[in-house]
Amino acid sequence: MSNGHHRIVVLGAGYTGMLSAIRLAHRTRRTGVRITLVNPSSGFVERLRMHQIATGQQLADHRIPDLLAGTGVTFVQGTVTAIDPDARQVTVDGAEILEYDTLVYALGSSTDTSKVPGADTHAFALNSRAMAARFAARIAEVAESGGTVAVCGGGLTGIEAATEIAESHPGLRVTLITMNEPGGMMGPRARAYLYRTLKRLRITLETGARINKVLPGAVELADGRHIRADACLWTTGVKVPPLAADSKIATDDRGLILVDDTLRSVSHPNVHAVGDAAAVRLPWGQIHGTCQSGLPTAQHTADTIARLVRGKAAKPFRFGYFHQPVSLGRRDGVIQFTNADDSPRRMYLTGWSALTYKELVSSSPILTYRLSKHFNSTSIITKGGRATRRKRNQARRTSKS
Ligand SMILES: Cc1cc2nc3c(=O)[nH]c(=O)nc-3n(C[C@H](O)[C@H](O)[C@H](O)COP(=O)(O)OP(=O)(O)OC[C@H]3O[C@@H](n4cnc5c(N)ncnc54)[C@H](O)[C@@H]3O)c2cc1C
Repeated sequence: MSNGHHRIVVLGAGYTGMLSAIRLAHRTRRTGVRITLVNPSSGFVERLRMHQIATGQQLADHRIPDLLAGTGVTFVQGTVTAIDPDARQVTVDGAEILEYDTLVYALGSSTDTSKVPGADTHAFALNSRAMAARFAARIAEVAESGGTVAVCGGGLTGIEAATEIAESHPGLRVTLITMNEPGGMMGPRARAYLYRTLKRLRITLETGARINKVLPGAVELADGRHIRADACLWTTGVKVPPLAADSKIATDDRGLILVDDTLRSVSHPNVHAVGDAAAVRLPWGQIHGTCQSGLPTAQHTADTIARLVRGKAAKPFRFGYFHQPVSLGRRDGVIQFTNADDSPRRMYLTGWSALTYKELVSSSPILTYRLSKHFNSTSIITKGGRATRRKRNQARRTSKS
């Protein structure tokens, strides 16, 4: 505490850090709390739209100070270079020290290009607006000569990128190279629709392909074949910043902060972890990094800290997945509705209605920030129902053993 003020520092102004800071400001008004948000850039990066930037689309430029206007949150532009959880200090850009009583760790994740030789030097990744824009410039160049683009990784990011590229540059030959079946987590009907769309957009599928290395003009597969690639986009593999592990905050083997059921670090309870950087376990399993799960962790954490500041007890976090929204270019999409554990339900949407739905999902964070300045609006679609009722699940497990 400094002069009776409780100091909260939020690290990272991505999707979850922004919501944590704005909601906290609203929920702790008139309590004397001071909130500081740290991020390297003053521009807010809409990662959900990175594949649009990668095809040269001009998007709205949201500035973090504008999004924070009227909240009283102090914005510090800089990169966090160290955390000392015992002294409760954060170092920014190796020099500026910020002291905290409560820390929100929201440093997110990025695509890992280090695992396959050549990926970091010869492939692009959607890790920053600047790199996505450089990729857009490269494919525009390649398209003029009717060249080839390889998209490595058939997860949702790979699918969205490949379809966006094929639709916006019909002269390009696009190959989607993937180990697992694209849309493998969808139900059979949604997946069949996805395959029809990939075919319609003339995307060549290389499924079951293990990539050996990325070369200057090709991707080499483990079976020795070379797939020509005048431009290569890497979308597979995730890594998190090493800061938490380096600071001796307890993490799992991937560097995600281990949290209790209220999303507080198991080693340092005044550190709260949200979004892609948190290892959140629920009765049905561990959540995987999405905005859909990240925003609820931020909302819960803001509410938890507000409760703790007022001397109340923290409540356990509950969340269940609801959908897998996927755009397939600017004119098509597929939405698979899911159970709490992200397994597919029967219901799905395709075509224009799916694209409209996806657009609503992608614009919802900015709308949520605006609303959260004035209301306790919610970004939790479902808490997971029976799948996340711990007492009942625990009782069941105990009676079985
Ligand atoms: C192309 C693409 C499409 C996606 N589509 C979807 C989708 O349709 N639906 C969905 O639910 N999810 C989607 N995701 C995943 C989603 O974007 C992430 O789960 C989400 O961004 C996680 O939010 P976050 O706040 O944890 O991290 P981020 O949004 O990554 O924010 C982390 C912030 O921390 C900052 N930071 C990092 N290191 C430091 C440091 N040392 N000091 C200070 N600041 C730092 C970063 O600059 C960034 O601003 C997609 C991801 C990509 C890449």
